[in-house]
Amino acid sequence: MNYTDTLSPSVTLSCELLWSLESTLTLQDCRCPVCLEILCEPVTLPCTHTFCKGCFLESVDKATLCCPLCRKRVSTWARQNSRNNTLVNQQLWNQIQDQFPLHCQRRLSGQDGGGAEGQRGVHPEAAG
Ligand SMILES: [Zn+2]
Ligand SMILES: [Zn+2]
Repeated sequence: MNYTDTLSPSVTLSCELLWSLESTLTLQDCRCPVCLEILCEPVTLPCTHTFCKGCFLESVDKATLCCPLCRKRVSTWARQNSRNNTLVNQQLWNQIQDQFPLHCQRRLSGQDGGGAEGQRGVHPEAAG
């Protein structure tokens, strides 16, 4: 008598972030690939690349909205999140501020607090 156990593979497609809350972040982990400073209001793209919000908005190709690093198109994602004000990876941001408060303060104080709330410049274009 042979009993075969049927294994049902459970395939879950979930966008897990690379950042695990259990491990401690190092400064190396929190470095923005654009300005090479500590991430300030980190924006984590669907391709898992993370930039400062400011760096992302500046370095992202405004016409095509591609990731500055891997050139993956993030136009839909960026439009949705900037509309919902959810560009910033708050979980990561909180963790960075928690671990590197001095670095963050220095960065934040270096930026003038001119509240430009209105997001503009993202034109809905006919997707090809
Ligand atoms: Zn940056
Ligand atoms: Zn990327």
